[in-house]
Amino acid sequence: MSEAAVLLNPPGEIHSASAEAIRERVRAAGVVGAGGAGFPTHVKLQAQVEIFLVNAAECEPMLKVDQQLMAQQAARLVRGVLYGMRATGATEGIIALKEKYHAAIEALTPLLPGQIRLHILPDVYPAGDEVITIWLATGRRVPPAALPVSVGVVVNNVQTVLNIARAVEQQYPVTRRTLTVNGAVRHPLTVTVPLGMPLREVLALAGGATVDKPGFINGGPMMGGLIPSIDAPVTKTTGGLLVLPESHPLIQRRLQDDRTVLTIARTVCEQCRLCTDLCPRHLIGHELSPHLLVRAVNYQNVATPQTLLSALTCSECNVCESVACPVGISPMRVNRLLKRELRASGARYTGPLREADEMARYRLTPVKRLISKLGLREWYQDAPMIQSDIAPSRVELLLRQHIGAPAVPCVKAGDRVSRGQCIADIPPEALGAPLHASIDGVVASVTDQAITVVRG
Ligand code: SF4
Ligand code: SF4
Repeated sequence: MSEAAVLLNPPGEIHSASAEAIRERVRAAGVVGAGGAGFPTHVKLQAQVEIFLVNAAECEPMLKVDQQLMAQQAARLVRGVLYGMRATGATEGIIALKEKYHAAIEALTPLLPGQIRLHILPDVYPAGDEVITIWLATGRRVPPAALPVSVGVVVNNVQTVLNIARAVEQQYPVTRRTLTVNGAVRHPLTVTVPLGMPLREVLALAGGATVDKPGFINGGPMMGGLIPSIDAPVTKTTGGLLVLPESHPLIQRRLQDDRTVLTIARTVCEQCRLCTDLCPRHLIGHELSPHLLVRAVNYQNVATPQTLLSALTCSECNVCESVACPVGISPMRVNRLLKRELRASGARYTGPLREADEMARYRLTPVKRLISKLGLREWYQDAPMIQSDIAPSRVELLLRQHIGAPAVPCVKAGDRVSRGQCIADIPPEALGAPLHASIDGVVASVTDQAITVVRG
């Protein structure tokens, strides 16, 4: 047994499950992409690729989950990568993380077998956009509208890979989510909570808001969406809970309706093209040019159909709105509107991959600058991980926590369930992931949206 294998031994040897068994255990455990829209992981693991990449950049400035989980569960993460590599046939594993994650690097380095390496990313945004992570970590460029698998790479985030390892080794279903609560709260923290726990109770763990009229963002300040109700439940893809005064520009921008967004774009765009010069997708050779799309909606018929279709390749990283535009326009929101229309008409983009901008690496945004630019200095703080035995009295488990068909309940009101029990499954042949009870208790209600379990 190699030195790395010995070090990996506690708390368990590498499981000998076959590629097929790994995918089946991951499916049965309800593992979905924890860093994005919740794509079912067992489907992703069907791809046969050369590189299994862990996107551990965590480049949203206020979130502190992955960097702490990696330090705390380094051995499990490495084993998860090995399972991912086995399932996908990958011969190389890469964990792409930032230099400033010292504790994680220290914990991971002695555990790495020869086929897995760390890739140290610069502290820039959006180093964690999977297309940019792939480019930075491998030099490969994903063509516009293509998937990472087209360049021989499968990407998963840290929590997903940890969930893969738990699923393979202990057949342990996904019933918890680790998230950071940060911003205008008394005690910023990172904590693992049962799925379905109301965000209001998660906020209380952080001592509550410190401002009278708080606004809430699910995830980070760049890509997170507004949370309409603080009573919403935690899901498998909840990115974090960012609390800011309602008057903060990051909240106010998100409250702007589409009409206002378009009116501002029409009134003040000076076609300076800064949004395009800093657009990460444009920089690596995609056709996407946000200034042309803003022009297209401002003046009808000035764009070719091909230019309009390129809106479909926008990652919604928010650089054009929050970093680039000097006059407060949101090309990202304009793109989002265009996307909605184009998708409704069934349109698809196909286009070339051009040469990357030779200054591309230097045009990504340093995170320190980003924090200032976003007006977050006052709210930027550490969010240490706390261990807490959290026992909510009630959880609301949404049937749609993933891309694909909603899970179909297999319990009814009055049933007694135990933590980890499957309570909703996916229809045969459908894309999706099963759902499991996150606490012991009794099913209080089953609707077409959610299953509510009450402790007891
Ligand atoms: S940066 Fe703003 S003003 Fe300049 S082209 Fe883009 S949207 Fe128009
Ligand atoms: S949000 Fe803006 S900067 Fe980001 S990919 Fe889309 S157009 Fe480019």
